[in-house]
Amino acid sequence: GSTIGILGGGQLGRMLSVAASRLGFKTHIFEPGANPPAADVAHAVTTAAYEDETALRAFAQSVDVITYEFENIPTSALDILESLRPLHPNREALRISQDRLTEKTFLSDLGLKTAPFADITDAASLDQALQTIGTPAILKTRRFGYDGKGQARIMTPSEAPQALADMNGAPAILEGFVTFSIEISVIAARAADGQVSAYDPGENVHKDGILSTTTVPANIPSRLQTDAVLLAGRILNALDYVGVMGVELFVTPQGLVVNEIAPRVHNSGHWTQNGCTICQFEQHIRAVAGWPLGDGSRHSDVIMENLIGDDMDRVPALARDGSCALHLYGKAETKPGRKMGHVNRIVKP
Ligand code: ATP
Ligand code: MG
Ligand code: MG
Repeated sequence: GSTIGILGGGQLGRMLSVAASRLGFKTHIFEPGANPPAADVAHAVTTAAYEDETALRAFAQSVDVITYEFENIPTSALDILESLRPLHPNREALRISQDRLTEKTFLSDLGLKTAPFADITDAASLDQALQTIGTPAILKTRRFGYDGKGQARIMTPSEAPQALADMNGAPAILEGFVTFSIEISVIAARAADGQVSAYDPGENVHKDGILSTTTVPANIPSRLQTDAVLLAGRILNALDYVGVMGVELFVTPQGLVVNEIAPRVHNSGHWTQNGCTICQFEQHIRAVAGWPLGDGSRHSDVIMENLIGDDMDRVPALARDGSCALHLYGKAETKPGRKMGHVNRIVKP
């Protein structure tokens, strides 16, 4: 059987490994950190830095295809890996989603709506951008932000200097504040032959910048569900994408506004593990392995809830509730803000 190489050994890498294993594949994880959650279930783990060329080469040569569970892989590492084995999703998808400025430019060039945005390099460019975009606005680092980290809200122009200082000199983007009714996301997959399958949009609620719950179906008109799915398909086609992507959207009176895209399986797609025959993890493995996609239609309504930090105290009670499917990541240490697991609650009509 063939082996799938996965860059990153977090919970996403772990759940990808489980799905790969069910299809008879082996997985080999590359992860700089010690004792990653994926190590429990993968067939092999390389613990090495992305700067370790020898380790990267040996990893690539031991696998048939390479995929990833996070987008911040250094360019130098990608150069080596890609010279040895196929990489899915491709470099272009990574390049675009690694940088919020490139990402928003790509999306708006595709004709999709985004928040108004501007490249910020210094105090002068920020003042200029605030004049055109106005307040409230959000200053975000272009790269490496997640769970709302690396962001500063600017409610009045007087808050601009502090917001800029919060960026610690990192390249940044200013975004106009989008007034939305709800946030939704579409998890969509594309196979090597161009076949596309999208899951029903889910409705996302964040707490302290971290995804808290995803509810499917999202409470939106059918017309918007269709818009969301078609828009995701356009993004995948434009990138000649292979694999699963998460597309985060704001629902506004003017229609859907794209917030960001993630070139990987996505936290807001975890509901598919218990709401669909083929979940996002299997769908991703199928796509990168060159298989046809499976049936992603929703057979149940689901509320996915992340178990973060001390939420783990609720596990015994959740385990007694037969409508709850628990997914725990086996992380040794509980920390505030750390994603420890999630629960998919099947909602009977
Ligand atoms: P993730 O963990 O999803 O990768 P992130 O750190 O990349 O998050 P964003 O998704 O850009 O950050 O922003 C986090 C949240 O902040 C969004 O889900 C949304 O609730 C809010 N937000 C971000 N940008 C805007 C905006 N331009 N207008 C209004 N709200 C916004
Ligand atoms: Mg993000
Ligand atoms: Mg986001």
